[in-house]
Amino acid sequence: MQVQAAVLRGVGEPLSVETLDLAPPQKGEVLVKLAAAGVCHSDYHVISGQAGHDLPVVLGHEGAGTIVSTGPEVEGLATGDHVVLSWIPHCDRCFYCENEQRHLCKSFLDPLWDGTMPDGTCRLSKDGAPVRHLSMLASWADHAVVPQESCVPIRKDAPFEVAALLGCAVTTGVGAALNRARVKAGSAVAVFGAGGVGLSVIMGAKLAGARQIIAVDAAPEKEALARAMGATGFLEAGAQAVAQVRAMTEGRGADYVFEAVGKVAVQEACLEAVRPGGSLIFVGMPGNDETMALPSASVIRDEKLVTGSIFGSAQTGRDFARFADLYLEGRLPVDRMISRRYRLEEINEACADMLTGRSGRGVIVFEEAGDGAS
Ligand SMILES: [Zn+2]
Ligand SMILES: [Zn+2]
Repeated sequence: MQVQAAVLRGVGEPLSVETLDLAPPQKGEVLVKLAAAGVCHSDYHVISGQAGHDLPVVLGHEGAGTIVSTGPEVEGLATGDHVVLSWIPHCDRCFYCENEQRHLCKSFLDPLWDGTMPDGTCRLSKDGAPVRHLSMLASWADHAVVPQESCVPIRKDAPFEVAALLGCAVTTGVGAALNRARVKAGSAVAVFGAGGVGLSVIMGAKLAGARQIIAVDAAPEKEALARAMGATGFLEAGAQAVAQVRAMTEGRGADYVFEAVGKVAVQEACLEAVRPGGSLIFVGMPGNDETMALPSASVIRDEKLVTGSIFGSAQTGRDFARFADLYLEGRLPVDRMISRRYRLEEINEACADMLTGRSGRGVIVFEEAGDGAS
């Protein structure tokens, strides 16, 4: 079949929306009709070259839609199912999967880095030349062939644009608060960076019953949005922010500090905003070669816990359903972080808007989104 897709052909170049050929799903694969797809900074890291990737590639690693058909040997998924696409598929057979750490499953690392299907080939092509699939998803297209392990079924009354965001930003942030940090009720939380992930950390901290949630961001216009998601205070990023966090927490620092920017200088500052005995959780991704200075004596003396969290330490089969339930119960206001909806043809505008850092999350919506979309 033919699909419309946003293709990256050169680092730093605008994306081109093109007609590509999409081969039918092979063994263990499914064809999904996309209804909504999120626009995430990790996509931009591929455009900018910070995350090196073979080209050409169709980007997009957040998405939700409906299964159109299934290839041979697909189990537990059927035509008509609504699915969230997950960019960390898991095998359910390895050491990590068997130890409830499916988010650390390494079974698909090679095709994930190479931008192919698990068998090492591509389903997308143009004039016979293969086009790669970002994260085995390539969700910035009206249809995608994906491995069955990347599909997580979701209730049909969950709006697709909310479901799409569960596939990356929301789960990364909410999961970091609930699964990784296990934020306790009544605690004080500081979140550096109020983009899609930081706003989701705020939602998760509120859900956990944090008493105080301080958002820190370079864009003062984010304050209203951060407060709508659950922040109780807002600080403008800068040299004074750490001292202000300490001043707001009886001089101690916060119980939990989340770094959702991905900058080494911010990571280092965040350690100073953690109280003795508190936790620092890195969520924002810096460049692969970057290194922070860790004052290890103070980490020892003050027993600060420093850790990372990838994809919200999510067990997707459990957490996507749980987060969808919480959204529909009105306890996880995912829809409020959607700042604007775009057509696929507006993808470059969507990326430019994201880079301003002044808005929430942009979402691509496709034609005939079908039932469940709002
Ligand atoms: Zn993402
Ligand atoms: Zn595994």
